[in-house]
Amino acid sequence: MRKNFPRTAAAGPNGLGSSGRVPSFELRDRCSCLGRRKTSAQRPSHQSAARPRRCPMSDAVQEHCGIFGIFNHPEAARHTYYGLHALQHRGQEAAGIVTSTYDEQQEQPTMPAYKDFGLVLDVFDDPALFNKQLLGDVSIGHNRYSTSGASSNRDNIQPLVVHHRKGNLALSHNGNLSNARELRDSFREQGTLFQTTSDSELILHLTAQSRRQNHIDQIIDALMQIEGAYSLLLMTDEHMIAVRDPNGFRPLALGRLETPERHEGPAYCVASETCAFDMIDAEYVRDIEPGEILVIDREGCVNDGDFESHEIPTKYGVSQCVFEYVYFSRPDSQIFGEMVDKVRRQLGIQLAQEAPIPEEAEDDEKTPIVVPVPDSANTSTLGFAEECQDMGRRCRFDLGLIRNHYVGRTFIAPGQDRREMKVRCKFNTVQGLLEDRTVVVLDDSIVRGTTARYLVKMLRDSGAKSVHFRVSSPPVISPCFYGMDFPDADELLANKFDSIEEMRDYLGVDSLAYLSVGGLMKAVKRANHSDLSYCNACFTGDYPVPVDEDMSKEEFDWQAPAPRTQ
Ligand code: SF4
Repeated sequence: MRKNFPRTAAAGPNGLGSSGRVPSFELRDRCSCLGRRKTSAQRPSHQSAARPRRCPMSDAVQEHCGIFGIFNHPEAARHTYYGLHALQHRGQEAAGIVTSTYDEQQEQPTMPAYKDFGLVLDVFDDPALFNKQLLGDVSIGHNRYSTSGASSNRDNIQPLVVHHRKGNLALSHNGNLSNARELRDSFREQGTLFQTTSDSELILHLTAQSRRQNHIDQIIDALMQIEGAYSLLLMTDEHMIAVRDPNGFRPLALGRLETPERHEGPAYCVASETCAFDMIDAEYVRDIEPGEILVIDREGCVNDGDFESHEIPTKYGVSQCVFEYVYFSRPDSQIFGEMVDKVRRQLGIQLAQEAPIPEEAEDDEKTPIVVPVPDSANTSTLGFAEECQDMGRRCRFDLGLIRNHYVGRTFIAPGQDRREMKVRCKFNTVQGLLEDRTVVVLDDSIVRGTTARYLVKMLRDSGAKSVHFRVSSPPVISPCFYGMDFPDADELLANKFDSIEEMRDYLGVDSLAYLSVGGLMKAVKRANHSDLSYCNACFTGDYPVPVDEDMSKEEFDWQAPAPRTQ
């Protein structure tokens, strides 16, 4: 009987047994080009780094991608659709679903796919897709926000699907490969033709070129050669494979749900966040561990989760993305083994301990209010307000800012201040509540500071007596190379000014305070008792895995045909 996690350590006869650890020398032998890495100590100032081109109007760190897959369920594609819908916040540019089924006419396994630009509900708006096209009881899906490869290139929409000598192979990837340039250069020298300009395709080429005989071993061989941030779902004609990079940058969880009576065994699903499980009534089983390759197959489903598990050796230790807790993930999700809601409340509590509501507001006629920038700061603001009250500070949580969720692409007339209009389209104030009141406005992070500046102006225009800004994370000083899209380093507010006082004056607030780096990590550890550690490079500049700081999001686009938008 096969062993479930913890993973086996013994290698098979060829050094890559079907359920064994893959020795790391396989990677070094095969990929000597990976040796020229910059360490964080050798790295030049982050301020000189070239960064991905992104919307100059966007003042937020952009989400990355959401992945979902399900194995052994007769409604696989429909469940993937619901799972992707729950993960919509992780990527809104494009969506795709691929299923695995057997084509009776062709007498061979096949992987029908449907992908397009847009939101999940818009892309999959034809029920016939699920009844006639996306057939089979295995399916993987992807919500895309491009962090590698042009967003306008249709070929970059995932899941990617290829056919090679071992059969069909589909891939959904969340993250960024830090050695993509070296791998791509190496393939180009060999004459490899690329169909996309995203780094995810490299994983498929590495798999296809593996000299291993077994399909799973080929995939493992490929995974041994990539570096950086990747949570992956791969689908072969017989398996669904869930992978988390050894650093565990991005979250990935395993769920289980019952199937209709006549279907053999339960179904297993994998998702970026557990909110996707709630959507389809699946139960959370556990996280995919950092460095784990979990091979889900029919035998394992029938044996109630007894799946093969392999390990990718770690070079740099575990560094889960702390920004997932600060901002990216949904508060109703469990990631890295703990509820996001619980962690965010602790961030607010810690912030209140470090920089509570100002004492001078005690004598105000009206009770001071603590207002979140909706929606991502709602939970930390609750923690902040309650802790301030526990500390004896007079205040209450209130909703002084209202968010319009139906913004989309807004036409802005010539002559209007584009940035201000963008903020006004998204937020409005509750005027009667704010008049003559001390307002503490709390946001999860400040990136460029343009949104924060306009929000402060709106609060003042609505009659606030004074406006104080609190941020439930430290100043963002460095871009992310592990799958998040940040503005260039020199566009970040904290890099434009030399002191908190200068930033305070720019934002036009009476006081400004950020959570300290130490406070952030303390609050996260207070909520999540796991021993696994975190990446906080965007707040410290201390990158846990060497990065190629000159690589841009559209790095490989010049090599591809003109982007197709239709
Ligand atoms: S740099 Fe920041 S956003 Fe990127 S992985 Fe690290 S903590 Fe997350």
